[in-house]
Amino acid sequence: MKFKRKERGKKLKYFFAGLIAVLVVAGAVWVLATRLEGHPPVIAMDLESDYIPSRIEIPVTVGDKHSGVRKVFAALMQDGREVTLFNKTYDRALAESDDGTGQVDFTLNIDIREKGLQEGEALLRIAAWDRSWRQWFTGNLAYMEKEIVIDSIPPRITVLSRQHNVSQGGSGLVIYRLSEPCEKHGIRVGDNFFQGYSGYFKDENVNLAFFALAHDQGASTPLALFAQDRAGNQGHSGLQHYIQNRAFDAENLVISDSFLRQMLPEFHSVPDFPHDLPLIEQFLFLNGELRRRNDEALLALHVHSENALHWDGGFTALPRAQRRAGFADQRAYIYKGEAVDWSVHLGVDLASTRHAPVPAANSGRINLVDWIGLYGNTVVIDHGFGLMSLYSHLSEINVEPGDFVTKGDIIGNTGMTGLAGGDHLHFSVIVGNVFVNPYEWWDAVWIRNNVTAKLDEIGERIGR
Ligand SMILES: [Zn+2]
Repeated sequence: MKFKRKERGKKLKYFFAGLIAVLVVAGAVWVLATRLEGHPPVIAMDLESDYIPSRIEIPVTVGDKHSGVRKVFAALMQDGREVTLFNKTYDRALAESDDGTGQVDFTLNIDIREKGLQEGEALLRIAAWDRSWRQWFTGNLAYMEKEIVIDSIPPRITVLSRQHNVSQGGSGLVIYRLSEPCEKHGIRVGDNFFQGYSGYFKDENVNLAFFALAHDQGASTPLALFAQDRAGNQGHSGLQHYIQNRAFDAENLVISDSFLRQMLPEFHSVPDFPHDLPLIEQFLFLNGELRRRNDEALLALHVHSENALHWDGGFTALPRAQRRAGFADQRAYIYKGEAVDWSVHLGVDLASTRHAPVPAANSGRINLVDWIGLYGNTVVIDHGFGLMSLYSHLSEINVEPGDFVTKGDIIGNTGMTGLAGGDHLHFSVIVGNVFVNPYEWWDAVWIRNNVTAKLDEIGERIGR
């Protein structure tokens, strides 16, 4: 019996020795995997531009999901001098509690006067260490540096063009010089903004902006130039201008059930088309919601306009045509003797013979060829610097997006696609995001006085 007890004791000894060995190995694995992990922290900084203004708050996130963040240091170096922006050692609880990922968020507050920094170049550096036992317990290091430029001076705007006479629904041109390159600049007309473009004059800081007064913007509409530099500093300038009020015509359009039965099927595949509603309700959906969608699509095209003046001289109209509707006609839609809807006609309707060939009003690049709801088959020509012309209700189209057309080239044929009572061309001119009065652009004298004379005069003064 004694012998047996001895045997059991030996077995127990081996068992405990084995268990301890397993625990030691497991502990070593745990230390290697966690305390000795070799992944450095990840630094993410939210800085949009390399140019920073005199005061800025830069959000920074440092994360380390393996062992957590131990220490973060950030500084700006300028002319051999180091200015500390942030220096913090995190205790274990905080570093690992944020959201369980060992991530910490903080803000770098830079105030150049307070920190004694100067205009010009500087180096932003951020270092972060995690809680790993590597590097003799200092942790894995992540390091990031970024060259920045401190710019606290707002851009100055000098207006070079002299006269800015605009009529309601009409167009204008302003030419101005910026004191430095700016990432956003142009002219504000009420709530509308017209981007300025460089590239016409030799001096890259001289810009031109075509702008427009919408048909419903009167003489009290504020006009002001605006520029924002790469650091976000903003400059403003007024400009001498004169706004001419205009009156527009009114027109009644009678809607009959037979007309609706003829025109509605073209729109049956429009998203959300109210198939179950009465015909007139279907029409009201098109004239309201679809019109809004169509105009939004067309008035967004200017962002792709090219930095070039593709056109030259007066624009041409559809030849041998009669005017059927004018610009900014206030339209009432009469159904069974009652006005059921209203809209403003932001183009000119011209009718010639059926399927008459349509010439490009001026030279430019084809920007859009598409079926645009109420406008039917449509072509838009980009004449550059935000100026475009639009041709709608076409039966045939001969051009493709990207084609360059010269004034007078036949781009298609008139028709009655979209919302059209008969074969005609709906012609519009667009400046930026506004439909403008085409009569000005058809008028060579207006173009001479308001566009070419300004470009020539300033070109002579400062060089093209
Ligand atoms: Zn029209």
